[in-house]
Amino acid sequence: MISEKMMQLGKKRSVIREIFEYSKKRKAEIGAENVFDFSIGNPSVAAPETVKNVMIDLLANTDPVALHGYTSAQGDAGVRAAIAKDIAEEFDVTVDPNLIYMTCGAAASLTVSLHAICLPGDEVIALAPFFPEYRVFVEKAGASLRVVPTLDGSFQMDFDAIAAAINEKTKAIIINSPNNPTGVIFPEADIAKLGELLRAKEAELGTEIYLITDEPYRKLVYGGLHVAYVPKHYARTLVCYSYSKALSLPGERIGYILVSPDMPAAGDVYAAICGAGRALGFVCAPSLLQYTVAKCLRDTADVSVYAANRALLCDSLRKMGYQVTEPDGAFYLFVKAAEADAYAFCDRAKQFELLLVPSDDFGCPGYVRIAYCVETETIRRALPAFEKLMETYR
Ligand code: PLP
Repeated sequence: MISEKMMQLGKKRSVIREIFEYSKKRKAEIGAENVFDFSIGNPSVAAPETVKNVMIDLLANTDPVALHGYTSAQGDAGVRAAIAKDIAEEFDVTVDPNLIYMTCGAAASLTVSLHAICLPGDEVIALAPFFPEYRVFVEKAGASLRVVPTLDGSFQMDFDAIAAAINEKTKAIIINSPNNPTGVIFPEADIAKLGELLRAKEAELGTEIYLITDEPYRKLVYGGLHVAYVPKHYARTLVCYSYSKALSLPGERIGYILVSPDMPAAGDVYAAICGAGRALGFVCAPSLLQYTVAKCLRDTADVSVYAANRALLCDSLRKMGYQVTEPDGAFYLFVKAAEADAYAFCDRAKQFELLLVPSDDFGCPGYVRIAYCVETETIRRALPAFEKLMETYR
């Protein structure tokens, strides 16, 4: 007898991975240049040169035994100190390196955080549309996911809906800004308002509510927009950061969890994070990557390519009659499907070799996600296919 639940999770891939695998098969059949794969958020921009240079320097000039050895379970102390100093300077806040836990990316940051705080019967709120793996992570941590819609059209927070969803079982709310799949950024005023709401609900219900801010896209922002530093507005905040997209290193698996030093009983919460990391086997994040990111803290992948892709896609699709939400960050475009059933729309898109992700698993049916982290040339060549697809609905 094995775990039926885990077996089912392993057998049934996420819809994104399903399309990604189909794309590999289709590319082998008809040639990679004939398939327009907008399925997965794999950065198309190379990691900054600094990353390569730092790695070469580390490999050439550091004692290999030390370089490749285990770090402390929570991450190397020097690395955590460097990250803490950088955040403190960037946002003019106090950060405690002893409240930072190095992880294998945002997925691990989220899983570990949820296991640290959740008890059976707890509820965790996600704002739709949301990254579909939240459901897997929350349920694995023994809690259940409560989906709360965002405002129609703008995908901004609907405070009435959030207030109505919070109850005595609510352990946490996950926010993700810039957002996957909409690219929406929550304005600082709204983060402050959310903080006020959560404090008021804690007081009313006599409970503790954690704010988990999932931030793999924090550095991928267009038009000089500002992404709020969430712990400034709510003390019970856990930041789940990842370098996957900011430094174009998704395959290297590196990120961190930051516990706000203002959080009541921050030391105990951090201990629970260390315990969850231990229980899940997420200890000693890759050492070479820890040392590398600590020396690339102010570097970011070249966002100008994504900005150009965003402009080209938004303008072109709008002219064709698609209803598009202009993204402020990340590298996804959320587009209204031309029929109510997004799966049927994606199937029809496949006839033109356009691989799009239906939005149902993001908790917001009727849309498709287009990951535009591809070569600009791919978008240019895909435009006639988008036009033909829309034509079939005219
Ligand atoms: N959260 C969101 C919103 C994401 O889009 C992703 C990856 O695409 C993750 C978490 C997982 O990121 P990582 O690759 O750093 O584990």
